[in-house]
Order: sequence, then structure tokens, then C-alpha cells
Amino acid sequence: MFMRVNKLQIDLPAPKTMDPNAGAALQELLGGKYGEMSTLNNYMFQSFNFRSKEKLRPFYSLVASITAEELGHVELVSNGVAMLNNGPDSDADEEDGGDISDVPFEDMKDIRLAAAFLANGGGATPSNSGGIPWNNDFVTTTGNVVVDLLHNFHLECGARLHKLRVYETLSDPTGREVCGYLLVRGSVHAHAYALALKKITGVDIEKMLPTPNIPLGRIPECQKYLDEGSHRRLYTFSPEDYTEMAGIWGNGEMALPTDPPGELEVVDGMPEGGKIHQLTGVPSAFTPDYAPEEMFEIATKLYKASR
Ligand code: MN
Ligand code: MN
Repeated sequence: MFMRVNKLQIDLPAPKTMDPNAGAALQELLGGKYGEMSTLNNYMFQSFNFRSKEKLRPFYSLVASITAEELGHVELVSNGVAMLNNGPDSDADEEDGGDISDVPFEDMKDIRLAAAFLANGGGATPSNSGGIPWNNDFVTTTGNVVVDLLHNFHLECGARLHKLRVYETLSDPTGREVCGYLLVRGSVHAHAYALALKKITGVDIEKMLPTPNIPLGRIPECQKYLDEGSHRRLYTFSPEDYTEMAGIWGNGEMALPTDPPGELEVVDGMPEGGKIHQLTGVPSAFTPDYAPEEMFEIATKLYKASR
């Protein structure tokens, strides 16, 4: 089962400006073929369907714990998309919805994914940068451990390629931070699946990395994650389970030669994480409503009653 923590895996900087087309580009990392919905659902269903879980415990634990991290990536990218769609943080909600007959959102008909505003109020959905829905055809769960791990290795390398391209389109700090962090974590996952394949087959697949051939050190947004050693860590994302993956990730294995040196390590639990942004309401778009004051008042009373 799953436990939920009300944090993002990292702190995201607020966007400098409202940029729904940047949000649309970031959607590729959420609902694209190689996006976070794909990594999540591949590993999640592979872990549910995994045969001989006890006997293959280190491999099962690896796939199961990375599943939890990927769910957090879905959350992170979704927040990034919504933040770019909605613009800079504001302390106060808009007081009044204003004149809705005065085309307040004329610009929104020209954004790349108009449905992101018209249907979703600036929120993210599991679709790609062209608005095409994510679907089950992106899930591979064959029941064969080597084929599934090979698929996962390919998926992480492909995701890295797409992350690099999305990164190259974005100037806003919010989207760039999402890409920088996910590039580091995606490299960890590609490395982890390579090591898992090496343990089973004896082939040094990790020597193919980094694929594509851009070291993380070339990307400024990756730097602080490299400095703190994120590229050497896998988290169990569990109070006590999944520690057996240390036989694969650890056990004398070292960071990739293109990254800062050090031994790989499994960390119990989860990263410290960062805050979830408020997503300030826009009453003229009826989010959370045209005149939300009464709603806020009811919520305040309910909050007090819960204390
Ligand atoms: Mn991911
Ligand atoms: Mn991943």
C-alpha cells in the first residue's frame, strides 16, 4: 500500500511569469511516451505482477521502491505545469472576479493547449505536449525479469533524451529546475536498472551510460543535486521495506565516471522534500470560484474544529 506525504520531492522556484506554452512543453515529461506517467505505471504494474517476489527480493525491491519515487515525479511535474500555467506566486487571492463579459482570457484561446485552461483551469493532466492522452500502450509488463529491466533501462535513457530537449526549450526557472532534478534522478534509475541487468547477465551495461551522451555536470540546474550526492542515492520510500535493493545499488558499486565520485548508497525513507506552492486562485476563471470568500470561511471553521 501507499503512504502520502504533503511535500514535493524538491523545492521549486516560483515562475517569473505566466507561460502556458512552457507548461505545454513540460507536459511532455508528464504524459509523453517517456514521461513520468510511463515510468510510474511500468514499474508499478511490473511490481504488482512480479513473480517469485521472495526469491528475487533485491530485484523486486528495486522496482517497487522506484515506483514510489516515480509517483512523486508525476506530482512534481504536475505542480511545475500548473505553476507555469498560473504564473508567479501571490500572497493574496484576487478579491473580485471582475467583469467576465470583458473577455478577460482572450489570450487563452491562442495557447498551445487551450484545454489546459478551458477544461482544466490551468491544471496538469496526463497528456503529452501536443495534448494527446497518455495511455496503457506505454506499459510493458512481460513477467520476464530481464526483458522488463531492459525495457526500464531503455525507458530511463529515452526519458533523459526528452528531458534534455524540454530543458533546451525552457527559460523559466520553474521548468528548468524540474528538468535538472529529473535528469539527475533519471540517470540514477538508468544506472540502477543497468546494475540489476549486470547482476543477472554478467554484462557491464552501465558502461553505456550516460546515454544520451551529455554528462550532468554540463547542466547548471543539476549542479546542486550532484554536490549533495543525489546521483549516488536511491531511497526506499518506505518506513522499513525494500532495503534489499542495497545488494544491487551499493555493495561496492561506484558513481558513473562522468559524475562526482563516491559509493552508491540506499537511504531508508524519503528525501527531505520541499513545499507545495499554493496556486493562487483566479476568481475570474472560477478557480476555486467566482466569489470564494464564503468557501474560505467555511474551511477556516472546519480547520479550527479539527484542531
Ligand atoms: Mn521519473
Ligand atoms: Mn525514473
